[in-house]
Amino acid sequence: MASTSHIEIINNALKNNVDFIKSILDKETIISAVIKGNAYGHGVLVVVPALEALGINHFSVYSSPEAREVLNVKNKNSTIMIMGFIFKKDFDWIIDNKIEFFVSDLEILNIAVKVAKSLNKKAIIHLDIETGMHRTGLSIKYLKKVIDVINKNKKHLIIKGVTSHFAGAESIANHTKVKKQFTVFKKRIKMLKENGINPKIKHIASSAAAINYPETQLDLIRTGILIYGYWPTRETFIKYVARRKDKSNPLDRTLRWKSQVMLIKDVLEGEFIGYGLSFQAQRKMKIMIIPVGYSDGYSRSLSNNGHVIVNGQNSPVIGNVNMNMTICDITDISNVNIGDDVILIGKQGNNEISFTSFAEMNNSLNYEILARLPENIERTII
Ligand SMILES: *Cc1c(COP(=O)(O)O)cnc(C)c1O
Repeated sequence: MASTSHIEIINNALKNNVDFIKSILDKETIISAVIKGNAYGHGVLVVVPALEALGINHFSVYSSPEAREVLNVKNKNSTIMIMGFIFKKDFDWIIDNKIEFFVSDLEILNIAVKVAKSLNKKAIIHLDIETGMHRTGLSIKYLKKVIDVINKNKKHLIIKGVTSHFAGAESIANHTKVKKQFTVFKKRIKMLKENGINPKIKHIASSAAAINYPETQLDLIRTGILIYGYWPTRETFIKYVARRKDKSNPLDRTLRWKSQVMLIKDVLEGEFIGYGLSFQAQRKMKIMIIPVGYSDGYSRSLSNNGHVIVNGQNSPVIGNVNMNMTICDITDISNVNIGDDVILIGKQGNNEISFTSFAEMNNSLNYEILARLPENIERTII
């Protein structure tokens, strides 16, 4: 289905962000670009080749269907790592294509061994260790069993990595918990070593940990949100610039989401605008209608709350976001015409729409709104 909006991926911004990430890492530390959720809505098809051109050759996805999509666009030498779910029917294909994956369960390990044997190949795995998040990692009890299975099947396994994930590295309030998780992680690595298992790549840090706790960067960081030009939380940004002379934001947003002015109307004082009674004009107003709504990924939570840019200026969303349209206030913006560009995310001139600038908008919505940008919106790299 064709779309009434368009997404541009700005190659210079991508390059800027990759350069920034490199600047906070040791030379040897691998950057694994996290491209789950269709590259946080940016589009795997455009992002993977663009990142490869910038020297990134390690990609983290969530699932086997996502891995399939990436395998079709990546170049031969890039690595794909699945951090989450794999359909049973996909193990053959994954092992055959040397796609790496997290093992967080004994059953998954047994399947991997069985399939690798039948193919006469090796499954390349990363052991996902429970350190305090209580989501997917292997608890100590299972880890012992996993070690037994590994040591009996070394011919069919490459234990490439050992991994875990922090529960809350984006906030200083979790400082003690993060330190504790890191200690547990190091203990488990030691235990593996004592049992003859010595994974080459140790990794635990995502974007927030890589910034807030540089000692956790180890051999590889899995970074998503920084690549796309956003901070994991506002707190992470404040903490980062607090340590520096230059207080400007080193990241550039890589995505610009555009639509256009569909209609312009005058509204009299006292009239209600849109569905229901959620917005009443307090003065004579001029409004514009844009052909984008929640079915296009423009969240309903932006009702009476979001902003767009038109003619270089901020235009507030008024009333509820509808399925296919949104109404915005242009009373104080001169010279707006039907067909003009409307920026939903990104920059126009010096003005920028960053979701983080919305009143009372919680930053985790960045991840959500980006990831929910529909696949049918056309994406081009500029
Ligand atoms: C999504 C994800 C990341 C990346 O998180 P960012 O905050 O975008 O850097 C890293 N590791 C795992 C396991 C993830 O699911």
